[in-house]
Amino acid sequence: MGKIYDLAIVNARTRNTGSSQAAIGITQGRISMIGPSLDGEAKKTIDASGGLVTESFVNGHLHLCKVYTLEMAGQSALGEYQQGGMGGAMTAIERAAEFKNTYDAKWILPNVRKACDLALLYGNTHIRAFADVDSKARLEGVKALLAAREEYKGRLDLQVVAFPQDGILREEGALSYMKEAMSLGADVVGGIPWIELTRGDEERHVEEMFRLAAEFDKDVSMLLDDVGDADERTLEMCVLKGLAQGWQGRVTAQHCRAMSLYNENYFRKIAALMRKAGVGLVADPHTGPLHARVRDLAAAGVNVALGQDDIADAYYPYGRCNMLEVAFLASHLMWMTKFEDMELLYNMVTTSAARVLGLRGHVLEQGGTADLVVLPAEDVYHAIWDHQPPSHVIRNGLEITVGVN
Ligand SMILES: [Zn+2]
Repeated sequence: MGKIYDLAIVNARTRNTGSSQAAIGITQGRISMIGPSLDGEAKKTIDASGGLVTESFVNGHLHLCKVYTLEMAGQSALGEYQQGGMGGAMTAIERAAEFKNTYDAKWILPNVRKACDLALLYGNTHIRAFADVDSKARLEGVKALLAAREEYKGRLDLQVVAFPQDGILREEGALSYMKEAMSLGADVVGGIPWIELTRGDEERHVEEMFRLAAEFDKDVSMLLDDVGDADERTLEMCVLKGLAQGWQGRVTAQHCRAMSLYNENYFRKIAALMRKAGVGLVADPHTGPLHARVRDLAAAGVNVALGQDDIADAYYPYGRCNMLEVAFLASHLMWMTKFEDMELLYNMVTTSAARVLGLRGHVLEQGGTADLVVLPAEDVYHAIWDHQPPSHVIRNGLEITVGVN
């Protein structure tokens, strides 16, 4: 009697096996065998037809409460965020804030479902999802995302971030809403210290968010130095606070676009500090004209990831949770067009992204979690080039079928 697998994928290519074909056996949600051919029987078999099989996609950053709100919010924020070297990023956030008075989980949730269904169609199994928390949005975005987290459990993991988009010190009441959001069950403490008006307030913002993280024993994910100003230092503040609090490996830096303006000496110091503190970074080069130096960070040993960031909101008009499309755009915007660059881009939407978000075992190897995609492409180059949806999406060893609204 040979072995019996719950699921097998045959005639597959993997990133390690080159042009030779492989078979993958899955037992109880884990990868239990990888080899040239299956060494047993399987209850169910997927024929990859020579297509690439990899880890499923991990989306490191998405403002999920705002999806499909561009027409409600208006277009005035777009220009401020994207033109003039990002000097107007703060004004963009102020312009996008007003319409949040209309926030209601009742209309937000159907938008969230639409984005989550697309995410599954394109092979995402994990999203770090941000919900605005302030005196206008109140807790409506958080409530919608927490409801979606339960609905999609077992298929799509939403890590819900309570995110004080308009600041803590400059936005009265935001801190108590943040506490309430964490009590409701948000998974991650957000933050955006650079939006505060003084250096002292930026430091207090970081302090308050880490205090909340300690109180609820949660990870931290902050939008840092997301503005065209080389002198912003909130990334450094956040990294140092993480080290001081013993939060190594529990802090994620989002955006950090001003990094592209730091002088070389300072950049090298901050990269070394990020590595020491285990702070990973999520970049979104398609949603703003500046971007973090991900290739240099990766070379310095920092985990890096890509995020969708926005879907049709006040900051960006497109998006559909297709992480291969995000990688395709990043390849152009960051001039990462060599094959070795494409391998790094692919890591940034799969394995490296998983490490940034603190996921364990998200790797196609024996003992790894069976969260996989089967692609209609023979290698990473063609997968990014065509950015087609996977032919099969597997979560915890089970194939997911997706109905898009
Ligand atoms: Zn963002």
